[in-house]
Amino acid sequence: MTRTARIALNRPLRRLFDYLIPDDQELRNGQRVTVPFGRQSATGIVVDNNSEPPEGVTLKPVTGALEPWPVLPEETFQLLNWAASYYQHPLGECLFMALPPALRRGRPAEQKRESAWQVAGTPADLPANAHRQQALLDWLGSQPTARETSAIVKAGFTRAQLSALADKGLVVETRVDAEPVATAQLPELSAAQQHALDQLPLPADGFATALLYGITGSGKTEIYLHYLREFLDAARQALVLVPEINLTPQTVARFRRYFGDRVVVWHSSLNDGERLATWLRVRNGEPVILIGTRSAVLLPFTGLQTIIVDEEHDSSYKQGDGFRYSGRDIAVYRGHLNQCPVILGSATPSLESIHNSRNGKYRLVCLEERAGNARLPEISLLDIRSRPLEGGLSRPALQALRQCLDRGQQALVYVNRRGYAPVMMCFDCGHIEECPRCDTRLTYHRRDRAMRCHHCDFQAAASDHCPKCQSAAFKPVGQGTERAEDVLGAEFPATPVVRVDRDSTQRKGSIQGILDRVNSGQPCILVGTQMLAKGHDFPNVTLVVVVNADGGLFSVDFRAPEQLVQTLLQVSGRAGRGNLPGRVLVQTCHSDHPLLQALCRGKYLPMAERLLAEREAGQFPPFRAMALLRAEADTMENSLGFLDGARRQLDGSDHDIELWGPLPAVIARRADRFRAQLVLLAHSRGRLNQVLSNLCQQLDNQRQPKGLRWQVDVDPQET
Ligand code: ADP
Ligand code: ZN
Ligand code: ZN
Repeated sequence: MTRTARIALNRPLRRLFDYLIPDDQELRNGQRVTVPFGRQSATGIVVDNNSEPPEGVTLKPVTGALEPWPVLPEETFQLLNWAASYYQHPLGECLFMALPPALRRGRPAEQKRESAWQVAGTPADLPANAHRQQALLDWLGSQPTARETSAIVKAGFTRAQLSALADKGLVVETRVDAEPVATAQLPELSAAQQHALDQLPLPADGFATALLYGITGSGKTEIYLHYLREFLDAARQALVLVPEINLTPQTVARFRRYFGDRVVVWHSSLNDGERLATWLRVRNGEPVILIGTRSAVLLPFTGLQTIIVDEEHDSSYKQGDGFRYSGRDIAVYRGHLNQCPVILGSATPSLESIHNSRNGKYRLVCLEERAGNARLPEISLLDIRSRPLEGGLSRPALQALRQCLDRGQQALVYVNRRGYAPVMMCFDCGHIEECPRCDTRLTYHRRDRAMRCHHCDFQAAASDHCPKCQSAAFKPVGQGTERAEDVLGAEFPATPVVRVDRDSTQRKGSIQGILDRVNSGQPCILVGTQMLAKGHDFPNVTLVVVVNADGGLFSVDFRAPEQLVQTLLQVSGRAGRGNLPGRVLVQTCHSDHPLLQALCRGKYLPMAERLLAEREAGQFPPFRAMALLRAEADTMENSLGFLDGARRQLDGSDHDIELWGPLPAVIARRADRFRAQLVLLAHSRGRLNQVLSNLCQQLDNQRQPKGLRWQVDVDPQET
């Protein structure tokens, strides 16, 4: 009896591969195997361990299993199968996303934990001639924590000296990542917080999704901590998704304080060893509380009992290339598969989630007062149409900053662009510096005298003269964070100005330094991009100035108004979080715009309702399901031609799907590639999924022009 298996490989192919199962092998779905592939071998994952053998082909046998257990347990395996079909992404690539890089490369699924050593005895036991051993003991004793063998060797000692000390019992091995056991007490919840907590679904109730709408500073994190303490079993796992861990090290620190080394993290700056170690703990069912960014939702949990998605509206939950999944949406599906509660928290929930709370899919839990003595800040508009500006700041804004600093408090200035100025322009000939590879303008970065493209990796040296007419009247136009930093530094020479943007936080740990400095409480001005809007708790900030609010008011993207309101409310929410009242000044040229008027009333839900009504009127998501077929090629003709062909195939089939385009993308040329898209809108998500799946199969089997790439983007975040 021949047995065959279907295997997925980590390749961008919408197909699986058949192999014979050797007689002495038992294979399970989700198990890792080595298979011959072409003239090489490849790592694969068993997708069907009992498949129908294809007719008329001679199959090669599986070389062997990499471990006797499935790397993807049942629930994770099902989840990824669902996600591959929902997002129309090749199954193999989806399955391998759940593995750490080492396992994708076929390395063994075991942990090489390096020993770390610390001093255990008194040096009096050492013979007098053991100078190096003595030196090693002294060195180890002077270190703040236990040190790894490799660090000891790097410091100039030998393994022989180390083992001599170990034999005498003078040094002992410890676990590298051992942490002190948590001892801290949770603060008592306010009545409002307790009321919110009481309404959350419990693990015992199975699957339910709650939308925890809690205004900025209402103490949502505190509610998560209480929830986990009260309802998470000691032997079970919890997943806490956050948008960006590196920006908010405080959040992890808060969890660690209460749950000690039960808390583990998952994010892009872990090295391969750390990833494997954490992955194994999760797979082995250790009762971790895992705090992670989007891809953590794909990890092979075995014993997951609760999922929390913090700042659920954040667009970084959606992956922007390749497997374009939404970590938040997969989290909800995971809760359903796993029969456990999902808590989505935000001060500015996505319109999708609000819609789902209106139609009964999610339970809306509201928390509309701030924790402790804090009150919501007062937001006012500052019309700057005919006001003189100094580096983008109006006199009233500068005055408010001065008063704030004079009171010994801190201020935050929000600028939506990094760099010095978004445009360099010649005031003689009108020349504007553009990216030679994209349809975009170059941003002037004054700190390193560079012109940079924010859409590709192009950069060039900045020049003082117009490159076209040599005029010296070649000047920066518009506001960036560097310029605001300079202007504020000149205006307030006695006050430190701290810039927070992607450029100033590149070094590992730099954000922590910035946060420490701000939270020391001394007067200072924080200047930065939306990085400053992300969940930070700055108790001494009492004034927020928004340099220009108008960017999103007239955008073609149907999501722009939602994102504008969310960003402005989140930035505003950094003011007045401590005992002092806060104030927000929003500079705008459109102070009569209804969206900004509504913002001043400070209530998010009514604004969201209005935006939802607009979405409904236009039958945009969430009232219809949307997908994009994206194409890019060496010429626009090729991109549009491909999409025209796809459109003809769709027009020929019988369905009620509305098609828009094809049209060039907003930035039509990027890194010398020409991009276009076809929009699909459908009332039935199931129908859309089916049509897309057929279309992908057809497109896969057609010959495309050289250099053409296409992708499907389901529930696109940017259009
Ligand atoms: P959110 O996540 O909703 O923005 P946080 O959980 O960060 O809010 O809480 C905001 C601030 O209020 C934090 O400094 C937090 O320590 C404090 N806080 C929250 N709940 C309480 C409470 N019950 N008692 C005292 N302080 C609290
Ligand atoms: Zn010129
Ligand atoms: Zn570019």
